Amino acid sequence: MTFAAVMTFLKKISPLMNLGDKELEILSTPENVLQAELDVNGKKYPAYRVQFNSARGPYKGGIRYHPEVDLDEVKSLAFWMALKTAVADIPLGGGKGGITVNPKELSVSEIEELSRKFVRAFYEHLGPRKDIPAPDVYTTPQIMAWMRDEFEKITGESAPGMITGKPLELGGSLVRDIATALGGVYVLEEAMDKLSLKEKTVAIQGFGNAGMNAAKLLIERGFTIVAVSDSKGGIYNKEGVDIDAVINTKKESGSVIHYSNAEKITNEQLLSIGCAVLVPSALSDAITKDNASNVKAKIIVELANGPTTTEADEILHSKNVLVLPDILANAGGVTVSYFEWVQNNTNDYWDEELIKTRLKEKMVTAFNGIWQLYSQNDHDFRTNTYMIAITKILTAERLRGRI
Ligand code: GLU
Repeated sequence: MTFAAVMTFLKKISPLMNLGDKELEILSTPENVLQAELDVNGKKYPAYRVQFNSARGPYKGGIRYHPEVDLDEVKSLAFWMALKTAVADIPLGGGKGGITVNPKELSVSEIEELSRKFVRAFYEHLGPRKDIPAPDVYTTPQIMAWMRDEFEKITGESAPGMITGKPLELGGSLVRDIATALGGVYVLEEAMDKLSLKEKTVAIQGFGNAGMNAAKLLIERGFTIVAVSDSKGGIYNKEGVDIDAVINTKKESGSVIHYSNAEKITNEQLLSIGCAVLVPSALSDAITKDNASNVKAKIIVELANGPTTTEADEILHSKNVLVLPDILANAGGVTVSYFEWVQNNTNDYWDEELIKTRLKEKMVTAFNGIWQLYSQNDHDFRTNTYMIAITKILTAERLRGRI
């Protein structure tokens, strides 16, 4: 989503909070914008790290490798990270990085070189007490391992907490691999409870880390996945698809569309499938003013960042669809990243049960805080989530004497 669109939404809700010029300026201006050009085998790849806000703690947020990454998008994603860490109530700020690259066209050794060069370009601004990256779209635990290694090579010191989402053997945390999806499932369960929604049918758009793990976790909880899609298209079976078979199909053939026991649909059609829960887990701007009125789901769980445009949001709100916004619904990822960072900083490693218990506690507390405010006014759930996050950031700014 463009940064201008994100800021339009901020300006729209600012009168509800009586935000002054200084406050709006802080919320709309990244503290640091870092840019570089990374050279691999004679090809140049633009790279970015946007450090948006550090009032509540060191910058935190993933690094995205995607051909459509540009500075504008990284700014939007960095802004959302600042809000997300506030919603999850973890003592971190917000930042985001990206490289404009299609990693599917690079060899493993080229991806390694690119990742090490990213760290070499920005290392002075990174570190466990400065800015802590993590995975995002098309970046993996292996990439985090190379980045940690490169950072330690340059600085000469062990620094496991300089990056999260690492492999377990290199200081990663249990549960981090499924954390984004698991956090989303926890808030979905709370929301269904509040709405007394019993129907457990789901459509999932996007079948990467978040979408695939959400499918697995929901199946374990008795949900029926009626549709899934990836960048090549989607599949639909109103009786439900066999998720293990879909995962195997995707592994073997590269896409869910080759799964046989379902009807082929487009990504666009998936959004309007009859089901109780819609889980956009791909890229931004999937639900727009052109398709929002076709949505039949009662709840939308935004595992992707920015999947719903502001105009679509208004349509969904008027149709009584509850949108659990990205900065809440996918905050499980950064929350377990925070747990990973705490474990790295204390050298005390937690078991799976403890991490899941603490994640659930964080997600449920965040959801209920927003629900309480939401029950007292007519604004949509996203607006209420933003109000809570912004208040936390501005309180920290005020206490620091910056406002
Ligand atoms: N990239 C993820 C996000 O958008 C995770 C960030 C993190 O773990 O720091 O929330």
